[in-house]
Parts: sequence; structure tokens; C-alpha cells
Amino acid sequence: MTPVLALNTISKNYGPIQALDNVSFTVPKGCVFGILGPNGSGKTTLLGIAMDVLRASAGNLRWFDQPSSAELRKQIGTLLETPNFYHYLTAVQNLRITAEIKQRGLDDIDTVLKKVNLYERRNSKFTTYSLGMKQRLAIAAALLGNPDVLVLDEPTNGLDPVGIAEIRNLIKQLAAEGKTIIMASHLLDEVEKVCTHVAILKKGKLIAAGAVDEILVNEDVVEIGAANI
Ligand code: ATP
Repeated sequence: MTPVLALNTISKNYGPIQALDNVSFTVPKGCVFGILGPNGSGKTTLLGIAMDVLRASAGNLRWFDQPSSAELRKQIGTLLETPNFYHYLTAVQNLRITAEIKQRGLDDIDTVLKKVNLYERRNSKFTTYSLGMKQRLAIAAALLGNPDVLVLDEPTNGLDPVGIAEIRNLIKQLAAEGKTIIMASHLLDEVEKVCTHVAILKKGKLIAAGAVDEILVNEDVVEIGAANI
């Protein structure tokens, strides 16, 4: 089957710092794909390159077996950094603004709010939301336009245990609906719980990639790649 994303020998330098070194792997359709590595291992850089926010120093990639393009990237919802929601507007008002900026998803607002379990609180001001609710609203914004693929950078970072559990369940639910999810995480435990596939990065190098139940049972790989995770 055609992979959703194929990375081919991607490298990235920031001046003298090599953030990514010759990274290649593919993301199969319908999986929850974890990009696992400690802080500074290159996860955010990799997602930035995948979404064309950053330019690779070398290598190339394909989405849906085609060269990346703005048109193709419309099939991908992203949460790469905290969105700038307006604190004194409601969830509905904030999503309306996001949909207008993105020029898609205006008709999806009720649907995405139900999906992330915020429909009952849709008319509350953003400022009254817990951190977990704010993060679920950010995922709702990424779901506008009903993308087939979601790219999430550390989606549970900074949340309390309840918020973490809610986001993990939401990710599993979205995957069960058929979406492909690519998510960065520095938590081995999170990848084991949520992901079906994993790529382990360490200092910009790919240590291993494949199905979680094949990769994370290999003690050598976990020891080499994830010792600091
Ligand atoms: P974190 O979880 O801390 O964000 P990460 O795994 O996402 O880590 P990156 O943020 O991609 O890793 O960083 C990879 C390397 O590139 C690090 O050494 C980082 O300091 C460096 N780096 C990232 N962005 C820049 C930048 N704009 N300029 C210079 N160096 C950078």
C-alpha cells in the first residue's frame, strides 16, 4: 500500500549543528506513528520539514507518493506549536476565526467540538478552559476540514495526568476512525501505549523504525536509542 509519508535521506543543519542526519523511513496509512527521542534529538525539526515549514539541507520526501505541495498538505491537520487562540472569545468563535484563516472547515465546527468532547463547553470563553481542554481545542482546530492525516508535536506535553489520558484516548479514537496520526513524543511509555509504529531518533540519527511490537521489544534498540527518553 502507498505510504502516507516517505522520508528519503533527510538531513538538516543549523549552521554547525546537525539536527538530522540521513533519516529515512515510511509511515503506513492508518497507523499511529510515534517519533520518539529525547529533547534535542530532532523530532520538531523532522515534523517542520515534513510540513514544509523548514527546508531540509539534503534529501527529499513524498506525501501520498507525490512531491509535497500546498494542495496535498490540505489533507493534513497540524498541531506543531500552541495556536494563538483569543482568550476572551468562546471555543466556537475561536474555531470560526481559525477556519476563516485556513479557508476550510467552517461547516465542521460542531462536529470537531463533539469529537474532542468540548461541545457542551462550546460557548465558554477560552480563558475558562483547563490546559487539557485548551489542548483538545487545538486538536479540534487541526481537525477542521476533516484531514486524513494529523501531525502533532508532543501533544501531551505540560498536561496533568487527566489531560494526558484524555488526549491519548482522543488520538486512539481518531485512529480508530481511520486517520493516520504522526506524533512526536519523548516518552517511551506514551509511544508504547498509543502508537502502532515508531521511529527512534537520537542526536539526529535514526536508530530504528517499524511496528512498535517489533521495535520496542528489542532490548538493544531500546537501550541504545531510548536510554535517555
Ligand atoms: P525538543 O523536544 O526539545 O523540541 P526535538 O527532538 O524536537 O527536541 P529539535 O527541536 O528538532 O529537537 O532540535 C534538534 C537540534 O537542533 C537541537 O540540537 C537543537 O538545539 C537544534 N536546533 C533546533 N532549532 C534550531 C534553530 N532554529 N537554530 C539552531 N539550532 C536549532
